[in-house]
Amino acid sequence: MKFDPANHIQDLQYFGEFGGVNPSISDSSTYTFLSAKTMFDTFEGNTEGCYLYSRHSSPSNLYLGEALAAMEGTESANVTASGMGAITAVIMQLCDAGDHIVTSRTIYGGTYAFMKNFLPKFKIDTTFLNITDLEAVEAAITPKTKMIYCEAISNPLLEIADIKALSALAKKHHIPLVVDNTFSPLSISPAKLGADIVIHSLTKFINGSSDCVGGVVCGTTDFCLSLKDVNDGAGMLLGSTMDSLRAASILKNLRTLHIRIKKHSENAAYLAEQFEKDGLRVVYPGLESHPGHSVMKKLMNREYGFGGMMTLDVGSLEKANELMELMQNRNLGYLAVSLGFYKTLFSAPGTSTSSEIPEEEQQEMGLSDGLIRFSIGLDNDIERTYREMKKCMAELDILKAEQTA
Ligand code: PLP
Repeated sequence: MKFDPANHIQDLQYFGEFGGVNPSISDSSTYTFLSAKTMFDTFEGNTEGCYLYSRHSSPSNLYLGEALAAMEGTESANVTASGMGAITAVIMQLCDAGDHIVTSRTIYGGTYAFMKNFLPKFKIDTTFLNITDLEAVEAAITPKTKMIYCEAISNPLLEIADIKALSALAKKHHIPLVVDNTFSPLSISPAKLGADIVIHSLTKFINGSSDCVGGVVCGTTDFCLSLKDVNDGAGMLLGSTMDSLRAASILKNLRTLHIRIKKHSENAAYLAEQFEKDGLRVVYPGLESHPGHSVMKKLMNREYGFGGMMTLDVGSLEKANELMELMQNRNLGYLAVSLGFYKTLFSAPGTSTSSEIPEEEQQEMGLSDGLIRFSIGLDNDIERTYREMKKCMAELDILKAEQTA
């Protein structure tokens, strides 16, 4: 049967402490025990349903985790204080000194920096490669490799990972496939395509209101419990715990995700098609010209569309900066990093979210100076937005006058 992630969120039912339609918020860092023996058993991990201390788990965090596990179709999920908190905990849990990671070279700059600059302190080595080149991925796997890591739609180049094919490779070599699905919640369900662990930065589309940071690790119950183990769990010991009040607010926002994602996708598809017709260098997975278009079509949950992320190459960093400043002055969005907001957000990744990647590597992977990354907003009248954006481009000679007629 077709997997529908939004139905799984919708079908959860809540009764708060006083019959509220939202679960009650657990506003406590620590929990009482009626007997000392139960406290000891809980430390040993033997008492289900007992709470100990909120860095380990809390009812509000468990509710949000449950909803996100339902969305991704995994057994369980642990929420974290940020997307990086999720990514670093997974990596530190799976890798020991001397181990190796195979990853896409186009990934979020913070993840790249963690693998490239931080992990060598622990003698963990990373091979960065083109994740769409499956032969290169297989060739890079060694007996020391502990995971294949990728983003379902990559930041910022919007490459599409063939999760089914990567999962087959990972299974053949008995290693997990870890997928960051931040750019494509609902549109892609990595675990249903064979990924073992799915990560999100909740900061983005899932929360959708740019008012907090958060993350999640979705996986098997065993793996999620191992992250929380009081003796050697990376989640528990590195301490990237989400606050209960935040978990409760993100859960409420999650319930409208399906409506928002459809609108983000619809608006981004409209702008991408128009800009392509105008002869601009636009990248959007929903365009047939996108090299990963057919792979995404094969993998995706169609009704949510190709997502809200789009890039436009306007030739130089100078032009990119001019255009972004003008668009912000005309109130067409914000010159800001991050994504998944009701307003359009735009930034030049080469000098912002991917600035951790050295210039020559940026060039090698095709991250050009003039590239602008757009997170398209929920504009009610996207045709009006298009007309206004086009005017900005004409004023800066990015579009020729006849193209704007
Ligand atoms: N993964 C992706 C794809 C991202 O774009 C980001 C942040 O920009 C992160 C992870 C990190 O998330 P956070 O900022 O919530 O730590």
